[in-house]
Amino acid sequence: MAKCNVCGKEKSANVSCDWKYFEIDEREYERVKYGEEKRSGSAGEPFCQGCGTPAGGYHHPGCPVEECPLCKKTVLECECDV
Ligand SMILES: [Zn+2]
Ligand SMILES: [Zn+2]
Ligand SMILES: [Zn+2]
Repeated sequence: MAKCNVCGKEKSANVSCDWKYFEIDEREYERVKYGEEKRSGSAGEPFCQGCGTPAGGYHHPGCPVEECPLCKKTVLECECDV
């Protein structure tokens, strides 16, 4: 497993990312934590299937489960400037 390139933690260790906010147009938006996604069907799993973060933790960047706090799409589909 790879290390997260933002927080430097090993993703397989099931730890939350340290990156908490997206900055868009000089405003900060809290990122959507694992377990708070509107669309993903991953609820009930103790750890994110995409990046290993625990419930209530922040996803590591690049995770396909993470949702954008603005448009509520997954960050991979999102077109916001984050
Ligand atoms: Zn991370
Ligand atoms: Zn994730
Ligand atoms: Zn977005």
